[in-house]
Amino acid sequence: MEKQKTVRTSAQYAGISLHAGARTKVRILPAPCDTGIVFRRIDLPGKPEVRALASKVVDVRRGTTIADGAAVVFTVEHIMSALHAYGIDNAVVEMDGMEPPIADGSSLPFVEMIEEAGIVEQEAEAAVFAPARPCWVDGGATKVIMLPGEKLEIACTTSFAGCPFDPQFFQTEITPETYRQELCGARTFVQYSDLKMLISMGLCKGGSLDAAAIIHDGAIICRDSLRYQNEVVRHKILDLVGDLYLCGRRVVGKVVAIKPGHPRNVELAGLLEKMIAETASKQENGK
Ligand SMILES: [Zn+2]
Repeated sequence: MEKQKTVRTSAQYAGISLHAGARTKVRILPAPCDTGIVFRRIDLPGKPEVRALASKVVDVRRGTTIADGAAVVFTVEHIMSALHAYGIDNAVVEMDGMEPPIADGSSLPFVEMIEEAGIVEQEAEAAVFAPARPCWVDGGATKVIMLPGEKLEIACTTSFAGCPFDPQFFQTEITPETYRQELCGARTFVQYSDLKMLISMGLCKGGSLDAAAIIHDGAIICRDSLRYQNEVVRHKILDLVGDLYLCGRRVVGKVVAIKPGHPRNVELAGLLEKMIAETASKQENGK
């Protein structure tokens, strides 16, 4: 049986956050069995914590925001994605601000943090969730469907007006190896029209071509060249791997995602979180 895992030691990364434009530091720390992933705001009195769960999500418009009382944390999806892909069941993510650094808009820096910290097995068995029946969320143009399966496999399509490589499709099994090679370097994309609106709302203060690529009028504007020709859809899968982890456990199954985004990703994670709670209460009653 597979064991639960945490990081061997701590590692940290500092940089500019996307929306507030503030310099923030994030640290990943080991945590005991059955902790799950917990974010801790060390800049606030009492260092309040929020467990990374779909039921704690308070906003999905510009990334995934979780909150529990004063412990508000923006844009958790890229760190959650790296932790999920690397099979880290338990960790405390300490932050000295409300939003982690955006870095290059990918999850590569967080993968490097995990690799630097190392991974250790713990006493308890891993509680990987494998839904026994299909489940899905349907948001019109956006659909995310999960079928039973023994591995986490994701097939995804996306389509953006003005994107020169459109539509895009990619599918892969999620393992630490495939994640490292095929997904973690894929950067955040933003459409130019959305960017103008975000800036007018006072967001994206930390935004630059270091942090995201811009889709505009048949071109992709980014630093250096594209890392993959279908980098947009790969980033969509990266986000989905992170959002799905908000069900509270690592999950396995076959996922088919059509034009996914945070709202439907988090909705599916919420369904899974409820299914996990139901399974646990049935087991409890059966004792
Ligand atoms: Zn993202």
